Amino acid sequence: MAVRRRDKEKRNNKNKFTMRMQKKLVVLVVAVVLAFAALSVRLYLLVRDHGESYKRQVLSQQEYSSTTIPFKRGNIVDCNGTVLATSRKVYNLIIDSKEILSDEDYMEPTLAALDSCFDVDIAALRQYINDHPNSQYYVLLRRMPYEDISAFKEIQNNSKEYPNVAGVWFEEEYQRNYPNGSLACDIIGFTGNDNTGMYGLEQYYNEELCGMNGREYGYLNEDSDLERTTVPAQDGYTLVSTIDAHIQSIVERKLREFNDAHEDEYRDGLGAYNTGCIIMNPNNGEILAMASYPTFDCNNPYDISALYTEEEIDAMTQEEYTEIVNQLWQNFCISSTYEPGSTMKPFTVATGLETGALTGNERYMCNGYLTVGDYDIHCHNRVGHGEVTVQGAMEASCNVALMHMGAAIGKTNMLKYEAIFNFGLRTNIDLAGETRTDALVYTEKTMHETELATSSFGQGFNVTMIQLMTAYCSLINGGYYYEPHMVSRILNADGATVRNIEPRILKQTISTAVSDTIVRYCNAVVETGTGSAARPAGYTMGGKTGTAEVVPRDGINYVVSFIGYVPANDPQVAIYVVIDRANQYKQDNSRLASGIVREILTEVLPYLGIPMTEELTDAERAELDNLEMNSITIPTPSVDDHDDGDGQSGGVGTGDDGQTGGDGTGGDGQSGGTGDGGTGHTVRYDPETGYAIDPLTGEFLDPETGEPIEPGSPLISPHQ
Ligand SMILES: [Zn+2]
Repeated sequence: MAVRRRDKEKRNNKNKFTMRMQKKLVVLVVAVVLAFAALSVRLYLLVRDHGESYKRQVLSQQEYSSTTIPFKRGNIVDCNGTVLATSRKVYNLIIDSKEILSDEDYMEPTLAALDSCFDVDIAALRQYINDHPNSQYYVLLRRMPYEDISAFKEIQNNSKEYPNVAGVWFEEEYQRNYPNGSLACDIIGFTGNDNTGMYGLEQYYNEELCGMNGREYGYLNEDSDLERTTVPAQDGYTLVSTIDAHIQSIVERKLREFNDAHEDEYRDGLGAYNTGCIIMNPNNGEILAMASYPTFDCNNPYDISALYTEEEIDAMTQEEYTEIVNQLWQNFCISSTYEPGSTMKPFTVATGLETGALTGNERYMCNGYLTVGDYDIHCHNRVGHGEVTVQGAMEASCNVALMHMGAAIGKTNMLKYEAIFNFGLRTNIDLAGETRTDALVYTEKTMHETELATSSFGQGFNVTMIQLMTAYCSLINGGYYYEPHMVSRILNADGATVRNIEPRILKQTISTAVSDTIVRYCNAVVETGTGSAARPAGYTMGGKTGTAEVVPRDGINYVVSFIGYVPANDPQVAIYVVIDRANQYKQDNSRLASGIVREILTEVLPYLGIPMTEELTDAERAELDNLEMNSITIPTPSVDDHDDGDGQSGGVGTGDDGQTGGDGTGGDGQSGGTGDGGTGHTVRYDPETGYAIDPLTGEFLDPETGEPIEPGSPLISPHQ
């Protein structure tokens, strides 16, 4: 019974408790919500009406009790220690109104001292101090070098003569400085006001370049004396780049000269939409130079006055200006994509040889075009090359032969090897801004018969310069794909090495045997084929020219390029030049690119100490004399006059004008000639002018190049 009653009571209590509790709970919740709402409103009003003053109060207390000691951002130097980016200490002049007003004797002597040392509006400053009697941190002047403040410092230190100069102090800061202005701007980038790296190495290695601020704490002890504790700043690391400032400056000068020479030639504007060059060591992935045009001054990255007149700049909208500077800061070599064109051909041939689809002994017939699916796809020589070998197809850059090879390889292997060569993937070069291209290459689903055909000669998919260059180095160095890199060492503030960045082989793309064959073919391209204009006097070289129509294909706009290496038998230096839509009537002239390559190498190779091995013709000797390159050791003619090939290519190389006009096509004509004999490949000629006639379009063809005399007919046209 007793037990039961207790149970009952319990039950009653429970019910009662629940009822009351619910009511209480509701009241409590409402109260809490109301209280929060009231607090929120109060807080909002406080922030709205007094936020700035509270913030200032907190800030001024911080400044008063402790001072930041800024870190020094690390340097960027080239492979020889030449400083490309550094940081120098600068000073901000701070006014402490409260201290100046703390004694009536301070104001006038302080203002007089400031007036004698700085160019400041003293009346306005007096007004400011009187209007803001409690201000302790007003930045009067910014970022002055020590020379500018030394006179005032002397006054401050001379308390006997100037006992009443008070309330002025200097805040230290570092300012980024690029001693060479625009040199290597694409590689270096620049820094924002908050010391953050933007673009290039400055952005990629921002964490390493930044150090840690130190702090000086001050507090009043029991005797009201100021005690100070200092935590020193940790300065940032220095980057040792692989680039060579001297080579970089040669490259930039040559790109500038090209653009100056072609400025406003056919249309208003620069010598080309884009011009880029990379020089790389093919045996370790180190970049020696990388440049595009135009450049910007790293010290004043927002300044575009070198490219536009004042009126032009004034007339720009903010959007236009922003787009221009953003474009200017891009590194064309890693951020822009384009169709590689014929520089892709060595990759197709290598794929064929590596997969066994080609033996290297094949022969192809080029009639000037091939019908693939619904399209007629032209060879750049519309008369046709006749019968060509695999090597001959490379030398003459025959699209038709390459399309046959592509068909033999098939799309599965074509795509597999594109991936092996890393097309569609980033190279992971240590620079900010490398663009993605995964959406710009074909897949099993998107590659059909026509896409396979155009891919074989480098059209239809996109690459970046750094992708093509890195992959090409693996073609010529025995098959090793090195990760490209710009920094070789990282040093701490004392100069000790904290990190060595060793060359990294990521994969083997092709066998050494196939690599050797590709080198032989590429050597022939320069020796007797379309690339001869690239060879610098005194050296052997291999390489490949490239010409790709820009989409939409109109037969007018082209990207031309040359990729190659020196010396021919043992590649030590690789170079790649791309010219995107040259500013001239006929853009599809790869000689524009090979000409720049030749000029750059003529200066770079002697500087690198790579010895000349080839005899010089009189013309070449005169040319080098003209360059006043007395440091070059010119080899004496050897007794053993071993091959005619040298004399031949030497002769071709020297003729920069009329002769070069014919020389790239010399290769074409030659291989065309081989076919003309017994293959039954016929060409119609216009009886009046004597020009050959394109069998498909009826256009008159240039006897030198085999291309239409009037630009305007695209390479790929629907099959009629
Ligand atoms: Zn051809």
